[in-house]
Amino acid sequence: SLFGLPDQAPHERVLLAADEETGLKAILAVHSTARGPAFGGCRVWSYDNELAALNDALRLSQGMSLKNALANLPFGGGKAVILKPAVIKDRAALFAAFGRAVQSLEGAYITAEDVGTTTADMLGMQATTQFVSGIPRAGAFGGDPSPKTAYGVFVSIERGARLVLGRESLEGVRVALQGLGAVGWHLAEYLHKAGAKLVVADVDAAKVQRAQEQLGAQAVGINEILSADVDVLAPCALGASLNIQSIPTLKAKLIAGAANNQLATAADGDALQARGITYLPDYLVNAGGIISVAREYRGEGEENAVMAEVALIANRVAELLERVKSEGSTPGRVADAWARSLLVKPA
Ligand code: NAD
Repeated sequence: SLFGLPDQAPHERVLLAADEETGLKAILAVHSTARGPAFGGCRVWSYDNELAALNDALRLSQGMSLKNALANLPFGGGKAVILKPAVIKDRAALFAAFGRAVQSLEGAYITAEDVGTTTADMLGMQATTQFVSGIPRAGAFGGDPSPKTAYGVFVSIERGARLVLGRESLEGVRVALQGLGAVGWHLAEYLHKAGAKLVVADVDAAKVQRAQEQLGAQAVGINEILSADVDVLAPCALGASLNIQSIPTLKAKLIAGAANNQLATAADGDALQARGITYLPDYLVNAGGIISVAREYRGEGEENAVMAEVALIANRVAELLERVKSEGSTPGRVADAWARSLLVKPA
């Protein structure tokens, strides 16, 4: 554990950064640099208390190590959270202060977007740090990673539906989408185009209405979406949606979504397996965004090449399902061990 925090893997470094003038209070967590600099987004969120923020940063940071390793990226895992100030007086100044904190780690951590941050925030931060990605760049590849994340989840659902549900295409496959945000909306569009039947929920009624009007989606309440009568469940809101309360109510046979840390605990993965539900681990299927910002950061970006690299996630889904069969374990545990075996400098 880290300083007595329960269930947290040791981290290489954790920086607590504060700036009185802008109201910045941030946690920058570097889980592992074994594969290279720690790369992971920055979340802005209102937490119940500081310990909850620290826990979130550490869980997300460890998840980035696993995600980057499975995606074969030459980067380690890290993540930052900014505790959302009651009032943000000057957003640009807040992110400039955050950028200074990132810069102080001298490249051990590279930041990008996550929930609550935008491409504009990343663009502005360039004034105070060079260790930032996810920026629209004139004449070069870059920008919002969310569509790439959505594409990775889409190809995972497609492959999972074939291998787990025996469906050769997504035509007529019923998919429940929890959250129609930056990733969820793009995923909904991909699924609709492929002929899937969508059931959706979001706390934002305007997004739900748009999905009904533009994608023929059926709307259900936020308390009904997880137990909707569907083939596939795609959690694309926040973490811990798969837990002791929700698992007994699920009807989907396949789960694949963008949200980080969907399992409340590792034991919840076992509970899913016991119910005959195949869970494709979040950090395996939602790596499209980090693949995109990593390519951008290395200056290797080009739209088609990035999409081709993201599409490879489907092959890893197939490999995971093979490993699950041969090892007789659960997808969550197999992916975890597989990723941890890769937490070493790439050859
Ligand atoms: P977002 O904030 O744009 O979207 C989240 C959506 O979920 C919002 O529309 C919000 O209203 C909705 N929501 C919140 N609580 C809900 C609830 N209880 N029920 C239904 N809807 C609810 O965020 P995003 O960028 O789309 O990310 C979604 C998830 O995917 C997050 O967990 C994020 O960490 C993860 N993720 C995102 C990326 C990326 O590229 N953006 C990459 C990897 C992982």
